[in-house]
Amino acid sequence: MGVVNDVLDDGVAGLTHNVITGRLEDLVNWSRSRSSWPATFGLACCAIEMMATGAAHYDMSRFGMEVFRASPRQADIMIVAGRVSQKMAPVLRQVYDQMMEPKWVISMGVCASSGGMFNNYAIVQGVDQVVPVDVYAPGCPPSPETLIHAIETLHQKIEDGELMKRRVATGAGANIHVSEIPAAATPVLLGIR
Ligand code: SF4
Repeated sequence: MGVVNDVLDDGVAGLTHNVITGRLEDLVNWSRSRSSWPATFGLACCAIEMMATGAAHYDMSRFGMEVFRASPRQADIMIVAGRVSQKMAPVLRQVYDQMMEPKWVISMGVCASSGGMFNNYAIVQGVDQVVPVDVYAPGCPPSPETLIHAIETLHQKIEDGELMKRRVATGAGANIHVSEIPAAATPVLLGIR
């Protein structure tokens, strides 16, 4: 093993860090956190709130996320917005598999996270049975504020670099649960986060 093999195996994190490469990894994580593009993928009523989050009032482009990619190969984040039927689960997994690494998953709403009120054989009782989930956004539906809270939490974890190491080590998602924010409880702030 040498520097080249370490980088091939682990990316920038595999470098033996000095003051320059240490900063380089920070820069890569910072850029990843601010240019994560979601896959165009909505399953049920939660997707309406996801679309509202992308529209003018909430303006996801503030976070470098204005482009919902039509191709999973150009997407970093899967927002599972709505209940996952048994029939849809393999399709969801295929979309996830087609996304390039590194990639992350947000489970949006109680139906995606646990089946919600659809406690029956037709609905998957938690999308974590299909893909590793990094952040759970609660609510029925989660308000755009809640989804932004989940996105910002994920961005912070990507920037910290901790998530990448955990994914490589265990293959599991970060499993973070954020709290619900009622719609329009606070003004939508622009500027620093
Ligand atoms: S959590 Fe509520 S809004 Fe979202 S898919 Fe389920 S029923 Fe619809």
